[in-house]
Amino acid sequence: MLKVKNVSAGYEHIPVLFDVSFEIQGGEVVAIVGSNGAGKTTILRTISGILKPMAGEIEFLGERIDNIPAHKIVEKGIAHVPEGRHVFGKMTILDNLLLGAYTLKSQEDIRSVLKEVYDIFPKLKDRENQKAETLSGGEQQMLAIARAMMSKPKLLLVDEMSLGLMPLLVDKVLSILKAISERGVTVLLVEQKVQEALEIADRGYVLQTGRVIAEGTGKALLASERVKRAYLGM
Ligand code: ATP
Repeated sequence: MLKVKNVSAGYEHIPVLFDVSFEIQGGEVVAIVGSNGAGKTTILRTISGILKPMAGEIEFLGERIDNIPAHKIVEKGIAHVPEGRHVFGKMTILDNLLLGAYTLKSQEDIRSVLKEVYDIFPKLKDRENQKAETLSGGEQQMLAIARAMMSKPKLLLVDEMSLGLMPLLVDKVLSILKAISERGVTVLLVEQKVQEALEIADRGYVLQTGRVIAEGTGKALLASERVKRAYLGM
């Protein structure tokens, strides 16, 4: 579904990703894990077109997307949940959700996707007329994911959803991502919480200072000595 081929990217001509390659098949949950500053956010920004690669190519469903603008990439079916949530606190939950549906053309489409999103996140329905700022951190994270789901994505990119959440909530949000993938949406998440992310991922990639240094099934990576030593404190 997604092929990232030999991508280098960065800021102001200074690369932070070097020759990064990986692939995602439809229906998978893939995790890219690594420490703070490894370049995880930069990968997601490059896929969603916020940042243009300095070298390499990105293909989505057989078509090159690294040379088209970000809003066109959303229309092709890639939605990005940014780090830090960025929900609009003064707006209601429903209005936050409707903002995510701007690519949909008909009211009927919007109603049906809203119903589906409320099936996944029933608490948001109960509170749809409340301001988003009344939600807790974990609920705001759910809202950010729900808003991205409103564009009916085929591929959902999720940046560091565990940030600032209690362990119990991290598990809860991760299990929601698994449920989303079971509904046919492919998920790419990037995480500093290496253990938790690899536990739910079908496959993972380890990113260190802008380079992919290991890949494998979530299980295999969790069992690898290198990952255990470097990220799991064993
Ligand atoms: P984090 O968990 O902190 O987000 P990360 O793995 O997602 O870490 P990135 O945010 O992709 O890492 O950052 C990779 C490198 O790029 C870091 O050295 C960072 O300082 C640098 N960087 C990130 N954003 C910018 C920017 N807007 N301008 C310049 N350098 C940046």
